[in-house]
Amino acid sequence: MPLLFFNDETKPTLSFRGLLRIATDKNKHPIMPEDTVGEIQLKFSELTGILEQMPAGVAIAEVPSGKLLFHNREAVLLLGHPMRPSDDTAGYVGYGAEHADGRPYLSREYPIARAVRGEVVPPEEMCYRRGDGALICLLVNAAPIRDREGNIVKAVSTFFDISEQKQVQQALAQTQERLIDALGCGDLILWSLDLPESRLQLIGETASLLGHGHDALPHDLDGWLALIHPDDRAAFSGALARHLAGQASDIDVEYRVRRPNNTWKWLLTRGRARHFDSAGKVLNVAGSHLDISARKKIASRLNEAEARLALAVSIAELGMWEWNIQTGEVYFSPQWKRHLGYQDHELPNRFDEWESRLHPADRERVLAYLYGYVRQPVGDYHIEFRVRHRDGSYRWIEVRAQMLMDDKGQPLRLTGTHLDISEHKDREEQVRMVVQHDPLTGLPNRALVLELAERWLSAARRSGKLFAVMFIDLDEFKPINDTYGHHIGDEVLKEVALRLRASFRSHDLIGRLGGDEFLVIVTQLENALGAAHAAAHLLQQVAMPYRIGDLTLRTTPSIGISLFPEHGDDIDTLIRHADSAMYEAKQGGKGNYRFFSTTHDDAPVSPLESNLRGGHGWKSLQLHFQPIIDLGTHRLIAAEALLRWPAAQGGGMSADALVALAEQQGFIMELGKWVLQQACAQHQLWLRQGLPAVPLGVNLSAMQFRDADLPRAIAAGISESQVDPCFLSVEVSDRAFTGDLRYARTALERLKAIGIAITLDDFGAGYANLEQLSRLPIDRVKIDRSLITALPEDKTSIAVTEAALSFGHSLGIEMVAEGLESQQVLEFLQRRHCDRAQGYYLARPMPGAEFAEWYRHAGLH
Ligand code: C2E
Ligand code: CA
Ligand code: CA
Repeated sequence: MPLLFFNDETKPTLSFRGLLRIATDKNKHPIMPEDTVGEIQLKFSELTGILEQMPAGVAIAEVPSGKLLFHNREAVLLLGHPMRPSDDTAGYVGYGAEHADGRPYLSREYPIARAVRGEVVPPEEMCYRRGDGALICLLVNAAPIRDREGNIVKAVSTFFDISEQKQVQQALAQTQERLIDALGCGDLILWSLDLPESRLQLIGETASLLGHGHDALPHDLDGWLALIHPDDRAAFSGALARHLAGQASDIDVEYRVRRPNNTWKWLLTRGRARHFDSAGKVLNVAGSHLDISARKKIASRLNEAEARLALAVSIAELGMWEWNIQTGEVYFSPQWKRHLGYQDHELPNRFDEWESRLHPADRERVLAYLYGYVRQPVGDYHIEFRVRHRDGSYRWIEVRAQMLMDDKGQPLRLTGTHLDISEHKDREEQVRMVVQHDPLTGLPNRALVLELAERWLSAARRSGKLFAVMFIDLDEFKPINDTYGHHIGDEVLKEVALRLRASFRSHDLIGRLGGDEFLVIVTQLENALGAAHAAAHLLQQVAMPYRIGDLTLRTTPSIGISLFPEHGDDIDTLIRHADSAMYEAKQGGKGNYRFFSTTHDDAPVSPLESNLRGGHGWKSLQLHFQPIIDLGTHRLIAAEALLRWPAAQGGGMSADALVALAEQQGFIMELGKWVLQQACAQHQLWLRQGLPAVPLGVNLSAMQFRDADLPRAIAAGISESQVDPCFLSVEVSDRAFTGDLRYARTALERLKAIGIAITLDDFGAGYANLEQLSRLPIDRVKIDRSLITALPEDKTSIAVTEAALSFGHSLGIEMVAEGLESQQVLEFLQRRHCDRAQGYYLARPMPGAEFAEWYRHAGLH
């Protein structure tokens, strides 16, 4: 490659002379001896070669003129044209150098010009507009060259093209910017730490995050550590060290850094080793710093709230729960779980553990409330509902909660309390019950009756038990009010309520519907008979006179009865039907009870009804008579009258069923009157037929017995038939004695006052007990057939019979065995001195004529 020589006119010529001028000062140095000249010439060409081959532009200027003495080939290539020689520093003008803002370099600003003036110019960037218009970037430095005395003799400048490097740098910066833009906020900066030299680089909006401008940012690890809160430093360096030591897969640490205004910012720093040397040693770690101050603030607020809650928890046995809306995570405190009957470890913290335990009736309401609140968390979160306890019961829970929002106003967490208010609810229920009672009588009012009746009904549906609805209306109550005033009427109503209460069992429901109307729900019935008994008893109780001050007032109830499930499947229907039956009872002459009957609609009329109620009277019914024998004398001593409705007469019903039906349909009193009348007539007939007077026993059903009118009706019947009452006895089943024994006693005494004997029927069937025998005015006891037929094998029957016999005898009561079916039992009874017996073994029940026949042949021996 040919050497480039400076031409005097156009450019500095690199010649031997020129070189001498560069190397020496002709004023100060003598001309070299000729022999060294050759050597120097050699050196010169060597040096020139080196300068020309240098990959950097080189220029040498004269001092103090600043005139260019030399530039190399690279300089021409870089600048796009040869450098013009210049006589002074002004000569650099127009060379095309520009500052970054496009302003042209003044000639004295050129590094080489500054070096001519004695300045050592460190590398600086210079834009250069080349002749071809392209803008290149140069890194330029310059320095003066001094002689041995230190005088500046030349200035040299070198320059490199860094355009490409610059472009890469700019592209990198752009990428970073875009990255930061992509991060979307000033919350995140990126960091990179080179090891082992500990060079730290931070990328991103450091000013907004750290408050430090780029210049003030730390450049190494120590600088960063210095920013960290003293309390947190160990946490940070620990996290870094653990990662570098391979003990942690990531750096993940939260700590505070100081901002220039001495406030603290919370950072979450994450990072990971990126580069390693061949030995696996970490060369670079990089990651991000995230500003979590806002989150921390929320957390600390939450901590305060939690502290307050914790206090409340311990005081009030509050359970606590928390639902993270964003993650779905749920937490239940140990006390929360205890409310449901679980230990902490027995119930997982899962949403569905709660949801699945909600009471079916509350579920929809509770979930709608919850989700509604999450969508729009305004106002207080406060709700009560039932959850299923471990033991299967439901507990009332009161929940209050607070929604915690993030700094963007999004729901973050719902935190709440959980309080078991079951006891409180029970009390509330009690209070409600009190409020729902009629203030005058203290009975449940209409609303409560309906509510409770509904419950009774569903219980009955489950148990399959019968129950009866009684609609009670007082007869002639209005005249009492009108005549004596409301306060007297009120007193009567109070007394009626008392009697109602006394007449029913605790599990029956008694309420006042208003005015003189009452409603009773009789539960746990075995059959319709029970309801009839209860109604009869009630009739009698309410019909008794009322003593208010000096007044004695009377009223009777008209009672309508409907039966579940026979007369209706819902409470409204049952009440409506009971009401219409009550109306029937009123129509039928008041002071009466009626079962609801569909016969008024289009159901066929029962043959009994048509027989007994229609014009036919009682013609189809008959009485049969069964002999009762004295076991001592073996003589007939009495007979029992038993009702028959022969199949031939459209009947075929057993006596029990017939009586039950009569009770149900409300004509048992009429039937009883007829039986008594028939029995008395038979007694008189036998006498007329020449038979001795046969004492007759007549059965009374429980309902008859409870009828207050019974003694009067019997007395009337007897006197009509002119039978001596001493030949009559009534048989009352001990079933009639349930409830208040005082009433039974009074009733029996009234019957005895007529002069008739009393037989306690069916003793041992399970109702009356021995002790009661002593308290009731009874003349005879009939030991129940079920006991007698089981003799003599059954031990219980033996024991009961023996006990009854000896106890009865000790009280002077005559003991009668009924259902005697064998010689064996006869002997058993005789051995135990049973007074009388009746049974198929001795004689069957017979029509009156047949009985007379039998008596003539067998009864007298
Ligand atoms: P009860 O008062 O216990 O009457 C006795 C029952 O035992 C009668 O049944 C009679 O036929 C039956 N009997 C007598 N001896 C024997 C025997 O050796 N073996 C067996 N297996 N049975 C025997 P009946 O006539 O069917 O009457 C049933 C119930 O109907 C009576 O029980 C009584 O409670 C009631 N009853 C019958 N007639 C009348 C009546 O005129 N008015 C009332 N209110 N109830 C009546
Ligand atoms: Ca009897
Ligand atoms: Ca009996």
